[in-house]
Amino acid sequence: MKHNHSKDTDLSRRRFMQYMAGASLASLSGLISEAKVQAGPISKRTVPLPKFKIQISDKTAFQQYKCKPNLKRFGSENMAFKVTSEELGFPFNQAYGANLKRNMQNGSIGHGWPVKDTIEARMWYALNVAATTWNDNIGPDGENRENMGFLSWLPQGLPSDFTSTPLPLDNVENLTRKIKVIASYAGADKTGITKIDQRWMFNSVCLNGLDPGEPQIKHIVLKDVDQPSETETEFVMPESVRYAIVIINVQPRALTQLAPSSIASVASTNQGYAQGALTAVALSQAIRSLGYVAIPCMNSTAMSIPLAIDAGLGELGRLGYLITPEWGPHVRIDKVLTNLPLKPDKPITFGVTEYCTECGICAVECPSGAISPDKKRSYKPPPSAGRCGNAGALKWYIDGKKCSRWWAESGAPCSNCMNVCPYTQATLGDGFEGKTPDPDTFWELEANAYGRRSIIY
Ligand code: SF4
Ligand code: SF4
Repeated sequence: MKHNHSKDTDLSRRRFMQYMAGASLASLSGLISEAKVQAGPISKRTVPLPKFKIQISDKTAFQQYKCKPNLKRFGSENMAFKVTSEELGFPFNQAYGANLKRNMQNGSIGHGWPVKDTIEARMWYALNVAATTWNDNIGPDGENRENMGFLSWLPQGLPSDFTSTPLPLDNVENLTRKIKVIASYAGADKTGITKIDQRWMFNSVCLNGLDPGEPQIKHIVLKDVDQPSETETEFVMPESVRYAIVIINVQPRALTQLAPSSIASVASTNQGYAQGALTAVALSQAIRSLGYVAIPCMNSTAMSIPLAIDAGLGELGRLGYLITPEWGPHVRIDKVLTNLPLKPDKPITFGVTEYCTECGICAVECPSGAISPDKKRSYKPPPSAGRCGNAGALKWYIDGKKCSRWWAESGAPCSNCMNVCPYTQATLGDGFEGKTPDPDTFWELEANAYGRRSIIY
């Protein structure tokens, strides 16, 4: 889902098991209305597909956004989920969980997505459970889960004679290559390296991120220490942690094409989160075994998109996602922060800002009106975004509150912007081989979630 500080941190929360176990339908469905916006297969505006002339850019994300020098580090207490929960007076994910369940009871997998019957709806639910299981067990999504469980900031069960003995390093370029190979074997579809621009670190972690109450926060601070730690008031990161390994995982296309707001579109996002989480945790352990600090992050700890831009993985699109040359915006981003010295990649440009200026399809097709339709980028978020918006960067701001409200009302996370983006079309195609997307036809597709041919007996 989209968020404020740019979907620059996109947010998605897909805890279906929790949704179902959450507040009762009776108590919630009366509190948040059913979506009134028509959804289902969209009629796309057409524009010429983008071209991909990739060039090295001399501009970091901070420079690409033409940021004001006084840009504030973003605090997790201002994320759209938190603010929307406060405004609703109950956890926002319980609201859309209730509406999801209502949809399923009506034989639908989302707003505007009827299926044969409730049994079929349960099959889609099962598909999403498979997609989200590792996301939920590791994250979910990682937001405000710093130093928890699999996302621990310290080595887990590794021999201390390895973790306490840093491997001597003499060829950083060769080491960087091998770390990228290890990342690939751990599940990454692509990795990039950047020195961390501290302005993209979150200022704080919100300890009650989905709670409607007053935010309770702990600050993230850098100190001259050897190991990360957590105190009553702070998350302490060693100053030596200067590198981010940014991990890209492509999402299953055929699922996202059943957007907006269906169990399928959320399953696509969850699959990306699950794979990225597994990769970040495994890669962190590998780096710790070399005797270095490694901090696995999903949506947590630092803003994913600016780090990905600095690591040469893509550019920011109007829709608030990173746009990559390989898979358009159809990816999830995870990070490992480390003090292992690595060779940074260089930012790239392939004309995304110019193309988005003329395109605007995502803004037209966004069911909630969360995406700016303006030709020009702005330094200010829309007033309706409230404290979710962080002024001071030049971009098309996303209204995270409108986006998350739509999720709650429609009964599922949305992903329509990702679905309709011409960069998705140009890189991954339609996912249904040009046919109208259809929940029944999905089960007959021969390509598996990643487009490879599956053998299904
Ligand atoms: S299309 Fe709009 S409502 Fe849907 S995820 Fe994108 S921004 Fe949110
Ligand atoms: S759909 Fe949005 S993000 Fe994608 S190219 Fe068009 S304007 Fe840019």
